[in-house]
Amino acid sequence: MSSEVHTRFNRELHSFPGGLELKTHKELTNSKESLRTPLPDKIILPLQQHIGSPSETIVKKGDTVLKGQKIAQASGYISVPVHASTSGKILDIGTCQSIHIKSEQVPCIIIEPDGEDAWFELEPVTDYLSIDPEILQRLIYEAGMVGMGGAGFPAHVKLNEGTATAIDTLIINGVECEPYISCDDRIIREKADYIVSGTRMLQHAIQAEHCVIAVEEDMPEAFEALNALIDDDIELVTVPARYPAGGEKQLIKVLTGKEVPAGGLPIHIGIVMHNVGTAAAAFRAVTRGEPLLSRYVTVSGNVEDPRNLQVLLGTPVEHCLEQVGYHPRDDEAVIMGGPMMGKYIHDISMPVVKTTNSILVTSGFNRSREKPCIGCGDCVDVCPAKLLPQELFAYARAKDYEEVRALHLFDCIECGCCAYVCPSNIPLVKYYREAKTDIAIYEKKQAGYEHARHRFEARSERLDRIENRVDDRFDKIKTLSTDQDPVEEDKQSYIRAAVERMKQKKNKKKD
Ligand code: SF4
Ligand code: SF4
Repeated sequence: MSSEVHTRFNRELHSFPGGLELKTHKELTNSKESLRTPLPDKIILPLQQHIGSPSETIVKKGDTVLKGQKIAQASGYISVPVHASTSGKILDIGTCQSIHIKSEQVPCIIIEPDGEDAWFELEPVTDYLSIDPEILQRLIYEAGMVGMGGAGFPAHVKLNEGTATAIDTLIINGVECEPYISCDDRIIREKADYIVSGTRMLQHAIQAEHCVIAVEEDMPEAFEALNALIDDDIELVTVPARYPAGGEKQLIKVLTGKEVPAGGLPIHIGIVMHNVGTAAAAFRAVTRGEPLLSRYVTVSGNVEDPRNLQVLLGTPVEHCLEQVGYHPRDDEAVIMGGPMMGKYIHDISMPVVKTTNSILVTSGFNRSREKPCIGCGDCVDVCPAKLLPQELFAYARAKDYEEVRALHLFDCIECGCCAYVCPSNIPLVKYYREAKTDIAIYEKKQAGYEHARHRFEARSERLDRIENRVDDRFDKIKTLSTDQDPVEEDKQSYIRAAVERMKQKKNKKKD
């Protein structure tokens, strides 16, 4: 270990297009120690807390469960299990609002905590740097790990792809660029040892050549906490505080100068990125055997005591707000996530999930009325994805989804820079999200039709085969007797046999 700054790498930093310099408001929370949130009355665990397919419940109402016990299993490759975040009784298997699927209710498991917080039997693994990378990947998958930076992509998928393709660089992302959010800053300061060891573990899991941990230049304490623990096997880099420097593609551009191709993934250029929170949680999952059950959440904005909380997954937002002094007002709204990329939530009984990095109480909810686009082009100048936001908006509003696809809607990272600068107050990201949701629903339906068409065709083929077999048999029977109808022949032989049986019965009676 060394206390020197690890600058031997002399990495040249690059810049990304567009972006904004924003007032951060992180001082509200980043210097205060995080608090553990007490157990709520109810834990609500949605079966869809990540990108991909929802998990499938394996418990039923009335069951008692222990903390860390698997209560829902993955339902496909892009899916992860869900675990009870405390011990108690399964109160119900119901539905709740999902932050991942707009205006859709998703199945959820509701637990009534028993207050014991009693653990399921755990199976820690200590030799994590010498075991087979595939075993590590499996352990991380079994722990229900998803990306904790906000997007919520199942972590094992990135790790599996890592061993399938040669990985040059693993990037651990501690660049928390969105205003107000400081949960990464806090977890680095408080759990730097987990992050550094977790980084080495993830590097082993994907067999990456190089490894970089990146933080923002306005996180000096976090930088020092990491710097005190790393050796020269890990490069520690600070990047300029410019929003959205923490976006996956933007950070790759800043650190390597490389661009992830449109529609492509970092893996296509030999890079895998994980968030600092994911590195810490993965390390805990393997070395302590604890699945993903809690996370750091920044609760900030118009509350008495903004700060970071360590929250059990499934804890209602309302319960988190109570810990920091929340007094609701009519002109306020609650956002899950940050002010730029977060989503307004109308029901604060909604639970904290694996991807909840922040809960923000914001005023000025009744924003100015949307006006027509004046074609100023300000949105184009700030777009970090080099898109044409005003054209995307026009086609998204007209629901011309062929055009929005052609304009690379799916490369939009929903950073909100365009909407932030728009003088006409057009909520541009709202239109893009709606278009993405509509396209996803359409594609899901199409996939359903395709599936039904395949099933119909397979059934028709099966029926054809059966019919052909019947025809063949019929032809064979016909060829046996060309001068007599086979059906008539069958009938006659049946009658002859019946008459014969009756005769035999009569003869027996006479005897
Ligand atoms: S910033 Fe707003 S008004 Fe200006 S071109 Fe973009 S969408 Fe139109
Ligand atoms: S929200 Fe999308 S279109 Fe708007 S600036 Fe960000 S990446 Fe560009």
